[in-house]
Parts: sequence; C-alpha cells; structure tokens
Amino acid sequence: MYEGAVQDLIDELGRLPGVGPKSAQRIAFHLLAADAADVRRLVDALTEVKARVRFCDTCGNVAEAEKCRVCADPRRSDDVICVVEEPKDVVAIERTREFRGRYHVLGGAINPIENVGPDDLRIGQLMTRLADGTVTEVILATDPNVEGEATATYLSRLIAPMGVTVSRLASGLPVGGDLEYADEVTLGRAFEGRRVVGG
Ligand SMILES: [Zn+2]
Repeated sequence: MYEGAVQDLIDELGRLPGVGPKSAQRIAFHLLAADAADVRRLVDALTEVKARVRFCDTCGNVAEAEKCRVCADPRRSDDVICVVEEPKDVVAIERTREFRGRYHVLGGAINPIENVGPDDLRIGQLMTRLADGTVTEVILATDPNVEGEATATYLSRLIAPMGVTVSRLASGLPVGGDLEYADEVTLGRAFEGRRVVGG
C-alpha cells in the first residue's frame, strides 16, 4: 500500500482487464520514472479516444463519425452481414481480406455465469437490420468457445426462420480461444469454408 496519488494510480490501473495487482504496480512505477512528455502523450491518447471515438449507430463498431468506416463504404455489399462479438474481431476479419460485406458487433456473447443474456447484446438492432429483406446471408463469426457457440446457436434459431441463410465459420479455428488469436490464413480459410447452419 502506497500513499495518495501513487495508490490511486495503482488502483485505477488494476481495474483494467488483464492487469493484476503486480502489473498495476509495475506500470505505475514505470510511469513515475518516465519522462513527463511520454506520460503526457498517454494522457492525450486517453483523452482523445474518449472525446472522438464512439460506436457506429448501425453496426456497433468503433467509429469517429455516425457511421464506421465499413458502414460508410459504398463499395461494400449490403446483402451479407458478418456478426462478431467485439470491434477487435472486425479488425481480425478485415485483415484476411476475405469479406466484402457489412458487420454487426454484438458487444459480447451470451454468458449465464457473468449474467450476460441476449438482451444485453445488440441483437434487437441486428433484427432491425434484417427486417427489410436486403440481407440474404448472416455469417456468425462469434468466438470458437462455449459462449460464442451458445450465441451462434441462439442467433441461428432466431434468424433462420426469417428465410435468411445463416452460416458459421468452418472449424479449424483454435477452439476455446478468441477469434483474434487465429492467424489471417486460418481465419480466411474458416471464412471460405463456412457452412450453412439450420434453425
Ligand atoms: Zn458500422
């Protein structure tokens, strides 16, 4: 336990995902020893991201305007939507260059243990996007783990009866992990080999 400002910093850092008490302490002392200019750049980056970045009104991806870059791009096709859990998954799929449609970011996955149900995700917004019949295929690219599979099953039961083709990425992705951990080639292949799933 330290005094005042140092402890406040350690406490704040410790609230970040993946940062345990030891790491929080190490980062805090790193910042204490760092040049004021370096710390200022970090502070500016934090301030800027909160001031400028928001979530896309349409798909939930990170955006610096009402629409994200993908939604604002007229060259992308409107008939396919790829559903992912987090904005970082959009980045992972974009890297494969296999997909030219639109995205929908759920904001997580169904997880009863952590009290995350369908209503906590952007599922209603997805249904709204499907309502006018423009979209003919929904690709479920949730993570290859228990929560991701449960979410995909839930969504396919909801969407397939609407007459929309529902597909799921092919197996071969590292099971139990995050989509972002798959390399570009593996993820690209999983995309190409996606299979239609039933209702
Ligand atoms: Zn968007």
